[in-house]
Amino acid sequence: MAETEHRPTNFVRQIIDKDIANKVHSTIKTRFPPEPNGFLHIGHAKSICLNFGIAQDYQGSCNLRFDDTNPTKEDISYVNAIKEDVQWLGFEWAGEPCYSSGYFDQLHGYAIELIEKGLAFVDFCSQEEIREMRGTLTQAGTHSPYRDTDVATNLAEFEKMTAGEYEDGKCCLRAKIDMASSFMVMRDPVIYRIKHAHHHQTGDKWCVYPMYDFTHCISDAIEGITHSLCSLEFQDNRRLYDWVIENISIDTVPRQYEFSRLNLEYTVLSKRKLIQLVEEKFVDGWDDPRMPTVAGLRRRGYTAGAIREFCARIGVTKMENQVEMSMLESCIRDDLNENGPRAMAVLDPIKVIIENYPEDQHEELVAPNHPSNEAMGTRLLPFSREVWIEAEDFRESANKKFKRLVLDKEVRLRNAYVIKANRVEKDEDGNVTTVYCTYDDETLGKDPADGRKVKGVIHWVDASKGCAAEFRLYDRLFTVPSPAKEDDFTGAINPDSLEVKKGYIEPSALQSEQGFSAWQFERIGYFCRDTHFDTPVFNRTVGLRDTWAKIQQGG
Ligand code: ATP
Ligand code: MG
Repeated sequence: MAETEHRPTNFVRQIIDKDIANKVHSTIKTRFPPEPNGFLHIGHAKSICLNFGIAQDYQGSCNLRFDDTNPTKEDISYVNAIKEDVQWLGFEWAGEPCYSSGYFDQLHGYAIELIEKGLAFVDFCSQEEIREMRGTLTQAGTHSPYRDTDVATNLAEFEKMTAGEYEDGKCCLRAKIDMASSFMVMRDPVIYRIKHAHHHQTGDKWCVYPMYDFTHCISDAIEGITHSLCSLEFQDNRRLYDWVIENISIDTVPRQYEFSRLNLEYTVLSKRKLIQLVEEKFVDGWDDPRMPTVAGLRRRGYTAGAIREFCARIGVTKMENQVEMSMLESCIRDDLNENGPRAMAVLDPIKVIIENYPEDQHEELVAPNHPSNEAMGTRLLPFSREVWIEAEDFRESANKKFKRLVLDKEVRLRNAYVIKANRVEKDEDGNVTTVYCTYDDETLGKDPADGRKVKGVIHWVDASKGCAAEFRLYDRLFTVPSPAKEDDFTGAINPDSLEVKKGYIEPSALQSEQGFSAWQFERIGYFCRDTHFDTPVFNRTVGLRDTWAKIQQGG
């Protein structure tokens, strides 16, 4: 990753600076702790950039830890996808990936320690009963009838739970804290439950699994995490974490700091909702280019650098807010405008036949890959008597504002000659299919000799050597800025989020020796090759300009 990438300071970094100055810590250790129950999304990228970014800048380290305490929702395929995405984003975790399941023996031991200290008990109440006894924000909960079971009985019952003598849900282990606490998480939370399920890491070794809250803080402590950074919804859980760490025999005390989650307009960032989009086939998988997942953004043509830049620009605060999609889009546009080579593609083709160009003649014109970066080299553009142009770039008649091809007028074919339209051919419906033109063979790379002014420039693709290609144009996946707030978010799905066009592309964009995978198709937008297909399919990453603001105002 470029060392010059700027990372503005934030409140977390200020805390770390202070801890280092006060010698509270000499080395900084963070972690990124995904649950492997879905693909990573752009919100996770924010957390990844924060945690790994801090480790890099403070010469510390960052663990990748799978918080894998729920075997029925998790899968090894998610583990692999998460590893790939973190690496693709440009980050390296310290040593091997860690797993909370790797600490199941220790966690079980700490649960026994709490029982021995009279701080945990086996409860045979049903989930429903436990929920009812929890009370409300304004009303204290009530004690479980099993709360005062003696230590020896609790130890024996926990042993039986662990040995598989009870079915799922028959009982659970609860911490004995405070049923009147104003923090609901402190009202005798469940810390172990029975689940006769195969685990992707531990196989069939366990039929009891620790709950997330109990596991998370102990995993942080075992790994020696100095700053445990998580999103604001875990603020209350911090009380429970501190209670657990205080009451078990462990030396390290990780400190947790919360920051606000990323919310992004016109999309959803919750794995539960993203899973629904995939399973109910609203999209074509986790890496559908309309998904806000890292894999989807990658397939859409986003670069890792643009995503990191986005995370730097949005910053890290404690304030809840919703970021505009145009903020994400401007990051990739800035990147590709500078680094994407130019090419020409025609998405709605009509034919131009240059009648005074010899039928058997073929030329190879030279065009720069980038208008202002010579180092990106040049490409060869085949040119012949027949070329494709965009249907909307031709009109039979038009006023002066229309700077494209008009009957009896001239226009320049980009990187090629000036042509003049003479007559047209139409289909049964009256649509123009062919424009018959003549060209001025003195205008390659120069203005017409007699001083004629030709202002318009249009793009084109040679009809004999150009390649047929499919172009996929994407729009927002949702029609409202906050779909998560709808009663049924799937009702707000944009039915027109994908438009498929069949057109033509200049051959250079299909030549792998050029070494490019993303382009600016001149006058159309930024595109990348979709590697899921052997045939040429291009995804539009983003348009040339931010047209979204205008559309919203009805413009
Ligand atoms: P989701 O709500 O999408 O299921 P999650 O928090 O349950 O997300 P985890 O796999 O537990 O998903 O998340 C791993 C880490 O990423 C957590 O530390 C979490 O705080 C962080 N994270 C998840 N979503 C966001 C977000 N939108 N913005 C910032 N950080 C996030
Ligand atoms: Mg979570």
